Amino acid sequence: MFGIPSIGKLLILGLVIAGVYLFFKAAGRREQSRSNGSKKNTGRTPSQNQENQDDNGSLDMVQCPACKAYIPAKSKCSCGGNG
Ligand SMILES: [Zn+2]
Repeated sequence: MFGIPSIGKLLILGLVIAGVYLFFKAAGRREQSRSNGSKKNTGRTPSQNQENQDDNGSLDMVQCPACKAYIPAKSKCSCGGNG
């Protein structure tokens, strides 16, 4: 019954192991970030725009009505004219 495993079986086994490993890694990271988020304040304050940038990965850019510079939507323009 159990002969020499074929390359195909070894590949599938490797993929399964890698999948399980990545799954637990992602789950652990998600739980860690969740506990971090609950420790800090959950509300997003404009002063923490750098942290928002980290957990979002992408930012909405808006144009400042006063100086026409493009700034992240969650942050205030340095000229003070936004918002
Ligand atoms: Zn501005």
